[in-house]
Amino acid sequence: MSGKFFVVSLHDVHAGNYHIFNEFIKKLNELGVYFVSLLVVPYMHKEHDLSFDLKFVRWLKGKQSQGHEIVLHGYYHYEEIKKDSIIKNIISSIYTAHEGEFYRISYDDAESRIRKGLELFRCNGLKAYGFVAPAWLANDNAVKVLKNTGVAYTTKLTGILLLKSDIFIKAPVLSFTSRSPLRKLLSILWARLFRFISGFFPIVRVSVHPGDLETSFLKEQLLSEIVHLKKRRNCLTYKELLDLYAESD
Ligand SMILES: [Zn+2]
Repeated sequence: MSGKFFVVSLHDVHAGNYHIFNEFIKKLNELGVYFVSLLVVPYMHKEHDLSFDLKFVRWLKGKQSQGHEIVLHGYYHYEEIKKDSIIKNIISSIYTAHEGEFYRISYDDAESRIRKGLELFRCNGLKAYGFVAPAWLANDNAVKVLKNTGVAYTTKLTGILLLKSDIFIKAPVLSFTSRSPLRKLLSILWARLFRFISGFFPIVRVSVHPGDLETSFLKEQLLSEIVHLKKRRNCLTYKELLDLYAESD
């Protein structure tokens, strides 16, 4: 596949917060970024349930019909406390703040949640081709379930995994963290470094989280990085990227 591309994904979209993305999507539109991948959590933290929120479903269907992509992003976006090694517990608590729902999940639980999420989307007229695990942490059980349920792709911190062919496309991601002032500062430094690193890859990604939109300098930095990328690359959703990849194969 020739050319240079980037994907903008909006993470953690759920029934309790979807309205906060409207202004950002409008801004992206003004910058010429017309389609994004929306990573939707069906039942965020067991509090915000898509199945009981018709307004949210209408909003998602509206976005889908405009050309945005709907992606399944976990089910609860929450990992129950587990007895495990110290290292894995540290990763779970510090890296993910206990959001890594599919990090240590059993096959049966992964299957139940992924099937439930896909079915919920299907019943509501939403089509998901991809699944992204919260914090990009999907264990082998989760990947096996994705392959067995016909999901086309998943993404990791380092790239995109095509599930039918097992092809892995390296694609670094610009993602900020807003959980503390130090993390916010590190995010800005990462943005500087990302400009340099991204030049080496035909496909790169920008992931936007709700916390970024609540911190004005992070939001402005993201928009500025997107402007920078847009001058050099075409912006596609994950689904569009996969279609292009299949055509050129
Ligand atoms: Zn998430």
